[in-house]
Amino acid sequence: RVGVNELEHGKKAGVISLFFSQFKDIMTILLIAAAILSLVVAVLKKDGGELKDTAIILAIILLNAVVGTVQSARADRAIEGLKKLSANSCKVRRDGIEKVIPCAEATIGDIVLLQEGDVVPADCRIINCNNLACNESALTGESAGVEKSAERIRGNGAALGDMKNMLFGSTFVVRGNCEGVVTAVGMGTEMGKIAAMLQKSAPVKTPLERGLDRLGRFISACVLVVAAAVFAAGIFSRQDGVLGNFMTAVAIAVAAIPEGMPAVVTVLMAMSVQKMAGRGVIIRKLKSVETLGACSVICCDKTGTLTRNELRAEVLYFDEKPRYLRDITGAIGKIGDCMAVCNDVKGERGKYVGDPTEIALKACADDLGYDGKVERIAEMPFTSDRKLMSVAVKADGDRVQYTKGAPDVLLGLCTRISIGGEVRKITARDMEKIYSENDKMSAGALRVLALAYKPIRSGLSEDNLIFLGLCGMKDGLKDGVREAVAECARAGVSTVMITGDYKKTAFAVARALDIAHDEGEIMTGEQLDNLPPSKRDKEIARCKVFARVSPRHKLAIVKSLQRSGKIVAMTGDGINDAPAIERADIGIAMGAAGTDVTKSASDMIICDDNFATIVSAVREGRRVSANIRKTILFFLSTNLAEVLSILVASFVLFGFDFLKSTQLLWLNLITDSFPVLALGVEREDGDIMQRPPESAEKGIFSRDTFSAICVFGCFMTVATLGIFVYALNAYGNASASAMTFMTLSFLELFQAFNVRSERQSAFGKGAFSNPALLLTVFAGVALNVLLCVTPLAGALSLTELTLRQLAICVVVALSIIPVGEGFKAILRSKKNFKIPQKSR
Ligand code: ATP
Repeated sequence: RVGVNELEHGKKAGVISLFFSQFKDIMTILLIAAAILSLVVAVLKKDGGELKDTAIILAIILLNAVVGTVQSARADRAIEGLKKLSANSCKVRRDGIEKVIPCAEATIGDIVLLQEGDVVPADCRIINCNNLACNESALTGESAGVEKSAERIRGNGAALGDMKNMLFGSTFVVRGNCEGVVTAVGMGTEMGKIAAMLQKSAPVKTPLERGLDRLGRFISACVLVVAAAVFAAGIFSRQDGVLGNFMTAVAIAVAAIPEGMPAVVTVLMAMSVQKMAGRGVIIRKLKSVETLGACSVICCDKTGTLTRNELRAEVLYFDEKPRYLRDITGAIGKIGDCMAVCNDVKGERGKYVGDPTEIALKACADDLGYDGKVERIAEMPFTSDRKLMSVAVKADGDRVQYTKGAPDVLLGLCTRISIGGEVRKITARDMEKIYSENDKMSAGALRVLALAYKPIRSGLSEDNLIFLGLCGMKDGLKDGVREAVAECARAGVSTVMITGDYKKTAFAVARALDIAHDEGEIMTGEQLDNLPPSKRDKEIARCKVFARVSPRHKLAIVKSLQRSGKIVAMTGDGINDAPAIERADIGIAMGAAGTDVTKSASDMIICDDNFATIVSAVREGRRVSANIRKTILFFLSTNLAEVLSILVASFVLFGFDFLKSTQLLWLNLITDSFPVLALGVEREDGDIMQRPPESAEKGIFSRDTFSAICVFGCFMTVATLGIFVYALNAYGNASASAMTFMTLSFLELFQAFNVRSERQSAFGKGAFSNPALLLTVFAGVALNVLLCVTPLAGALSLTELTLRQLAICVVVALSIIPVGEGFKAILRSKKNFKIPQKSR
């Protein structure tokens, strides 16, 4: 009854309006002007030929608009899908059952359950809350957390900022948890009231799109000069008259200006986004697709991304001896209680939910016969900054505090030690022994936690503790990660591990994965803080593992790597990771472990939290960037050939029928569009992950692409002019003009085979690996051949060609393939693209 819980971001353009928007383009307007002009002339002169020209131009404009509409509709649909994919969900209680629903389905009266890191789905009144604070910057611009409470507010007309017992849609919880009842949804929320302002923000263009826009403007300027020159030359030399020459000039402009390019690029990126979604990678911002291709460092968390996050206790150190769990029989005293009590896992034995570290401890306590059923009276939850957790319990009338945490932190807080149930002062020798035991376990890639306790009278305090022992937990490596790290190394992308874990554990895992091989490649959070500014960036760029870091260090690492010229991908899950994720060139949120806030700050979400998935996304990013380069190469080399041919012809071949303006339009707007569609689905080149990342500044327009455009464009021009001169002598002007058109169109279609791969041979990829391309090229050829025998032939000034003449056109056009092979062989010999596998 109250509608879906969504903000309306302006109206979506329908197909009809998309169709009409195709005619806003200046080139199309020029064409229409030309068509009208030729109609007027045709009527005045009562000339059937001119009338045909008008008809064909109009037909081409219409067809072009249809193609454009389809492209735009596809792009729109893909972007719409993108929004759906990255939509948030929320937890509600309905009929007493808790369930997770898409935020759009939350409605008035729903009871929502929120905790730290959750985005508030709609306006809610708080029913109850613990220690709740919200970030309302989306609404108020104020980024400091706002304290909230469930208390009633007296009086009327409280300002937004004073409504402490309300939560507002699109803001997020930074601390605590709560239950609330939804009071308004969608456009009825406070956010909805200012949504009109949000609608106005124009869609941001990606750097590539901006680059293409710039290139487009530059080409347009050049082409207009060329078109003017051709027009002038025509007026002075040809008999075509003003209209004929105007048509030629317009045709050149339309042919040479790659107005379809930006739309094609958007479609290619959007198609790739859909493809990645199928593999569990949700791209939230289109620009990330191209950034992925340029990524040069991936910074990722250890647990859950590189390792499985399924910890299992393996070794216990207590009473001065390490023991494997399997060798322990009988009671082990207070250390067992500490493991059983000092955690927050929920659920039943064997089916615990919660932090995997704690689940491992709890399961270990279960195995040893400690159930931990005591009354909890106070707690200090775990935080990554403290690296500790404490609880106070009442057992047999006594009050006891149990604390567990990182050994290097916890040991500093212990003043006594418990050995065989006896408590005595902890000595330097004890400490030394414990540290060395900690190092030994860590070197075996175990995550080690220290356990302690103390009897208390009143509140909790994390000091003066009695050391109980250490617990070493094993976590397996995720499948495929080692291979993915190796793939990255070959691709010139370095992998950096960032972890809150102990240095030695981190190093052991990093070594097992081939991320680091030398302890010199590790830096701790403390070392990072103490780096002199002058050495900072150099040292950080050199390190492969950052251990014992807090979330705030992540931001410092991203910024530093960016200063060193790297394109940084960074993973994260907690709310404190959001600034680093936002800052990174590609912020990656974990789909399973990530909070809403991290997800909203991210550019991309990976559903399986696996490093290997990030690498597959990088490969896909490179594939798309390469395909975009290929498409640009195709567009620009063929356009260059057309413009150069006409330019030369109009100054050299006076008085002959060369390429007609209608032919040029047909070629450019119809024949060419086929292969472009198929190039987008081209498989990646075999060496795509054996090259360094494309540099960010050069981006898509590398020097190689530029030289390829020139080489292919010039060759096609020479072939086109050559065939004209040959055919003019052999068969006369009418056939020569038709043969030139055929040759140029075949050249362009065959050029698609050349651009399939940037450096590899066209034959190396398997002729049938892109059936769409084969089909479109074949369709293009067939269409042009058929053209000769239909009434359209007259309109396009094509005469019927003999089989022999057609064969000549095909053979000449095929010569573009060996030229491509030669060009690529030179590229390959010029550079050795292989990065040494062991760059260390
Ligand atoms: P990783 O990269 O392995 O995921 P992290 O960055 O998530 O590590 P934190 O969870 O912040 O690391 O943990 C940092 C340290 O705090 C751990 O090495 C461990 O010693 C300690 N620790 C982790 N979980 C707990 C917990 N539940 N209770 C007490 N201490 C913990």
